[in-house]
Amino acid sequence: MSKNKHDRWDVAPWEALRVGPDFDLAAFDRASTPGWDGDKDDAETAMAARGAELAELQERLYAEGRAGGGRGVLCVIQGLDTAGEGGIVRHVMGLVDPQGVTIRAFGVPTEEERAHHYLWRIRNALPQPGRIGVFDRSHYEDVLVVRVDELVPEDVWRPRFDEINAFEQEITAQGFTVLKFALMVSYEEQGIRLMERLDRPDKHWKYSPGDLKTRAKWDAYQEAYADVFRRTSTDVAPWYVLPADKKWYPRLAVTEILAHTLKTLNPQWPTGDFDVAEQRRLLAATMATSTLKASLEETDPSLTEAIQQKRELLKER
Ligand code: ATP
Repeated sequence: MSKNKHDRWDVAPWEALRVGPDFDLAAFDRASTPGWDGDKDDAETAMAARGAELAELQERLYAEGRAGGGRGVLCVIQGLDTAGEGGIVRHVMGLVDPQGVTIRAFGVPTEEERAHHYLWRIRNALPQPGRIGVFDRSHYEDVLVVRVDELVPEDVWRPRFDEINAFEQEITAQGFTVLKFALMVSYEEQGIRLMERLDRPDKHWKYSPGDLKTRAKWDAYQEAYADVFRRTSTDVAPWYVLPADKKWYPRLAVTEILAHTLKTLNPQWPTGDFDVAEQRRLLAATMATSTLKASLEETDPSLTEAIQQKRELLKER
């Protein structure tokens, strides 16, 4: 990849972070910044530069969906407490029009949800075509917390890996592009972030004494996550595992991977099912000559057809 001030990727993040057969979570450096040779300031500059492009791509996807297109993007975000899922939603999805994004968080299932298959609430939350859906936690909780806390026996949760793969295959065939992001903080960094929540009264609302119980099961969670990556990183729905000790890195990487995905999808502006010249003539008939003249002067010079017709309409006045 070529490098400039905004682009300091040595290896593209969708290659550097994608889980392959040799992925080893135990050896994964959570303070690293795979593929990126810049610092935090460079990352912020790069994200800002990518923002406008991401916003346009998202608008094109939305427009395509409005015109009957069936494609959508689903971002699944997983991570242990304090890993920064909220920051991803705020900083990455904050770059695009919120009307085109559907965010859904999955907590402990309600009584109604528990009465159904675990994928029931997931299916119900799938975004409309043209949208970017974000799952803050997801069906993966049903092979993570459910496994670690022994909420169901192993012969119930283990077959879920295959079931989840089949589900993701199915929704991909329906038109979704599924991106799965796992934010991995180190044990030490999690301790620092939890301590900060205790230190600051304005962060107490984010803390729960139960967080320490979850932290005590660190090794079991690591094992459960390692299995998730091993069993459910597929060609159609790969996992991207993001080192999350530096908060800015996963934000940057998700922005880049999402922009790359949308560029690959290459959604097109729909063409209107009306005669533009005819509509312009009818509209111009309702406008004062001075207003039409002003509109001509403000027309983007690259829109030559529009300029020509406005000139003709003005000549006829
Ligand atoms: P967070 O820790 O993300 O800030 P929170 O404490 O605000 O979350 P919620 O978002 O309401 O709480 O719920 C998250 C909790 O729900 C997590 O502890 C998660 O493990 C649990 N959870 C999610 N899905 C399931 C599931 N299928 N079965 C059991 N527990 C689940």
